[in-house]
Amino acid sequence: MVRKRTLERDLEFFGFGIHSGKPVDLRLIPSDTGEIVFRRSDLKNKEFRLSLENIKTKNCTMLVTNQGKIQTLEHLLAVLWVYGIDSLTIELNQEEIPSMDGSALHFARAVKRAGFRELPEEKNLQKITQSLTIRDEGASISVDPDAEFRITYQIEYEHPCIKKQDLSVVINPKNFEKEIASARTFGFLEDVPTLQKQGLALGGSYNNTVILDETRVINGPLRYPDEFVRHKILDLIGDLSLLGNPVTGHFVSKKAGHDLHLRVVRFILENPEYLSPDR
Ligand SMILES: [Zn+2]
Repeated sequence: MVRKRTLERDLEFFGFGIHSGKPVDLRLIPSDTGEIVFRRSDLKNKEFRLSLENIKTKNCTMLVTNQGKIQTLEHLLAVLWVYGIDSLTIELNQEEIPSMDGSALHFARAVKRAGFRELPEEKNLQKITQSLTIRDEGASISVDPDAEFRITYQIEYEHPCIKKQDLSVVINPKNFEKEIASARTFGFLEDVPTLQKQGLALGGSYNNTVILDETRVINGPLRYPDEFVRHKILDLIGDLSLLGNPVTGHFVSKKAGHDLHLRVVRFILENPEYLSPDR
């Protein structure tokens, strides 16, 4: 039997929102409720439950209700899901999770160092039982049954530093730490003015984003030659965490993004014949 988990102790982070550009204090507080709840201390401690109907995407994954929003959830959620933490209060005093260095490395190291406490409640493990494919304008995600939780990601860009990248990883804490956690957000210099007009990437900098001009990486060196596809895997793990319980299956993503990631999550949750308990 696998039990639900929380952290052994509080964790605190300070950083800046990559989109908002605003400073933010973030606290991860252990809980016994068996669910992940966000709390905005700047909005009279308003709480936000992590449910799919409140999830939206706009160059990041965000939780939006008529009470407010919390954006750029994906890297932190990926870490919590990989380490099996499903009971936690996430408190922040701004609208965005801090970007730290643009990767999940700070969160992963801190969470691991804090340690885990098991709750009496059992975790419901689940598995993909039949194949599906969702396509959208040259992008696609296929899902197949598998004994492991496995992600294969393929990307293709005209840019000479990226071109075609293709990586397949069995997602567990060890592989996540070694292959995925330190891969950073990336962006193209030419897109910055358009993004900033939309109120995005206002906190993007050489410290939290791998930035490419037309021919090269401006702020190298890269952490891996294929850091770009590794970061896409990180984003997909964060979005798949909205499936809630751990899942086994092989997710094959081609040139996808947050929108398509979340369409797959919605499809699976709305068609429960694709999932079954895994005991
Ligand atoms: Zn990301």
